[in-house]
Amino acid sequence: MINKNNSFLIILSAPSGGGKSTILREVLKLRDNIDYSISYTTRAPRGAEENGVHYHFVSEAEFLAKLEAQDFLEYAKVFEKYWYGTSLSYTRSRLAKSRHVIMDIDVQGAAQIAAAGKVPCVRIFIIPPNMEELKRRLVLRGEDSDEDIARRLATAKKELDYIPEYDYLVINDELEDAVSDVLAIIRAEELKTSGNQEAQQDFLQ
Ligand code: 5GP
Repeated sequence: MINKNNSFLIILSAPSGGGKSTILREVLKLRDNIDYSISYTTRAPRGAEENGVHYHFVSEAEFLAKLEAQDFLEYAKVFEKYWYGTSLSYTRSRLAKSRHVIMDIDVQGAAQIAAAGKVPCVRIFIIPPNMEELKRRLVLRGEDSDEDIARRLATAKKELDYIPEYDYLVINDELEDAVSDVLAIIRAEELKTSGNQEAQQDFLQ
């Protein structure tokens, strides 16, 4: 049981290729009270990515119009190249229905949400066991040019400095273990006394 008002954002960040989309997919399969926030981006679809499923792929003009309309909970330019942003209206609508919202966003976006302090959130950073493995996964994915892989690895090194700002660190060595770690974190957040005042009142009645 959880308090019906105890919904929060689940922010996952990881270096590109860190395996967070796979973890996210598994978590969504295993929990039915979580919705995925599909980000807006100005980058082009990669591989089998579909518009409206993996991302809302938009032009720079469309992205800036949404920004002007103040419909981003957070947004950032990632890899000094493309815009990425989280829809404010979508997030609000899901939280209002007492559902958690899980999102895969970069360190700048996670910092913006935490600094604004408007919505309860738990921030989880995911890393592969080492940098070599990260490079191996990016190459294996076969979706990026050599130049993009180099940019992603350079960004990954900088992102590691942000780990202390996160609530939790999950090492994605074995997928199954990483998924159960993320589920355990979510469950622990749900059981926090601060989000369960109604249950405490019910007990007293
Ligand atoms: P990719 O291009 O590999 O899908 O994502 C690149 C980076 O952008 C990843 O670190 C991912 O977490 C981040 N990202 C994806 N969506 C968003 C978003 O809505 N906001 C922010 N700030 N970062 C995002």
